[in-house]
Amino acid sequence: MNEMDSSIDEINRETKETIQKKLLLGVCKLIPKSNAKGTFWNCFEVVVFTETEQNTNYVSCIKCHKLMSYKLLQGSSHLSRHKCAVLTSEPSSSINQYFNKKQKTNLPQRVM
Ligand SMILES: [Zn+2]
Repeated sequence: MNEMDSSIDEINRETKETIQKKLLLGVCKLIPKSNAKGTFWNCFEVVVFTETEQNTNYVSCIKCHKLMSYKLLQGSSHLSRHKCAVLTSEPSSSINQYFNKKQKTNLPQRVM
């Protein structure tokens, strides 16, 4: 019988739904990953318990807020494969618009 094992599992394994609720309630919060390896960590924040700052084994994408399980032992390769819906659908036109505006400024033509 694995009664003890299953009870430990229940404590450690929060579902995405409960984590999402706890984030809304403020029981959990997002913190940026410190001393992170891998540039994809720029896109993710670690979900921790607000009081204890204990890891929930979940991370959240800062762009699309998708929760994903993360365990130190598992590694994070699946995170780097995350195809962010926000990133891929975001047009780069916002940058172009900025530059177009800049170019509109009237430059003085050959004052001398
Ligand atoms: Zn994302």
